[in-house]
Amino acid sequence: MDENLANDLAEFPALLEAVRESATDMLTGIESRPVARAPEALGREELPEHGVGLARALARFREDWEPRFSGSAGPRYFGFVTGGATPASVAGDWLTGVLDQNAMSGEDSAAIELERQTVDWIARMFGLDRHTGAFVSGATMSNFVGLAIAREWLGERIGISVADSGVGALGPVPVLSGTPHSSIFKSLSMLGIGRDSVRSVPTLPGREAVDVDRLAEALAALDGRPAIVVANAGTVNTVDFDDIRAIAALRERFPFWLHVDGAFGAFAALSPEHAELVDGLGEADSVCIDLHKWLNVPYDAGVQFSRHRDLQLRVFLNSAAYLSAPTGTPDFGHLVPENSRRLRALTAWFSLTAYGRAGHRDIVRRNISGANSLAGQITASGLLRLVAPVRLNVACFTLADRPTAERVTALADAIAESGETFVTPTVYEGQHALRAAFSNWRTTDADVERAAKAITAAALTLD
Ligand SMILES: *Cc1c(COP(=O)(O)O)cnc(C)c1O
Repeated sequence: MDENLANDLAEFPALLEAVRESATDMLTGIESRPVARAPEALGREELPEHGVGLARALARFREDWEPRFSGSAGPRYFGFVTGGATPASVAGDWLTGVLDQNAMSGEDSAAIELERQTVDWIARMFGLDRHTGAFVSGATMSNFVGLAIAREWLGERIGISVADSGVGALGPVPVLSGTPHSSIFKSLSMLGIGRDSVRSVPTLPGREAVDVDRLAEALAALDGRPAIVVANAGTVNTVDFDDIRAIAALRERFPFWLHVDGAFGAFAALSPEHAELVDGLGEADSVCIDLHKWLNVPYDAGVQFSRHRDLQLRVFLNSAAYLSAPTGTPDFGHLVPENSRRLRALTAWFSLTAYGRAGHRDIVRRNISGANSLAGQITASGLLRLVAPVRLNVACFTLADRPTAERVTALADAIAESGETFVTPTVYEGQHALRAAFSNWRTTDADVERAAKAITAAALTLD
């Protein structure tokens, strides 16, 4: 055995203790760490021929790399939609690595039973108990898998299996959607359906939610040709929600597969005052839910839900002589793109076991309240205004005076430089704007005030 490896084996418990101490140190410092870091170009080092052992690797990481990492797991990071990691989920993540299970098949471990149990809990949180669920790496993969099953369903309508014959046999596929996330286009590209297949359906006036009447017209114009409809719940700019129940009802008149991208918006289901935003979710053929955003588990985890396991199995079946053929409940390796798989469910299992539905509902409600409070505080100065009402957990705002691209970018930079908070730019209805997205369990009222002060102060520095 390599000398460093042998030493590390002998010292393993003490070394883990040192790692734990470092982790504690990083976690207690997370509130004082600058929220974001401007990346700088770094030179590349040679691959070490001989290593230095874990203790010195840890020291090197802490000196060279850790200080350059952002405080995105902390309470005042509002960029993109970036959840943190609850204490229990961090523990689950550590143990995932320690136990290093392969959650592909259930022949040698209960690991996949734990995944099934966790998927079942998540299904119940969102009213998806009639769906089959599987862990994937995030919402992009969840959208990809949902649309892959949709593609197989379209083939079945015309008597072919796309899984066997290829996407060429399918011809052009109409994909109808109001305000789809960028990952829908990426998924369609990966699936051979193509980004250009998306037919944009008009949204309601002043909204990002699709106009269901216009969707019905677009479906009628297909003359009975099957389609894919992607409903959005909610959108990233203004967290607007399509009327899922009304869209699902259109299936009585038109043949289409309904995929709902509920990456983070589906968590509205946890808040009684907002649950109606995702009413009808259980009617969807496939549903995407991200977990590393609003469930607050570490990257990377999302769940894919579908109501057509037979078609899913056709797409993702991985048959080989040494693998048992799927009978009964198929192994996860036959339901998703990955074969060998990390036991991603363990982080969610820990967090749901430790905090339950109520604990996670509390995170969602506090974040919604935080977004509303921030919106109130930053607009009170008169320097900033909202470009859309706060519907859930995002405040989308811009400068009251001359919100040009340059000035809004300068504002974003000034906010980031403060180290106090971090927001990301967008363009909404042609207006340059910034989004503050709340999805971190640690965020308190005091954090919201601190962030609001930093944003207002940054706005004051612009000429
Ligand atoms: C974040 C997001 C995605 C993509 O999620 P990843 O986890 O980054 O792959 C897809 N859809 C929506 C609505 C999102 O917010």
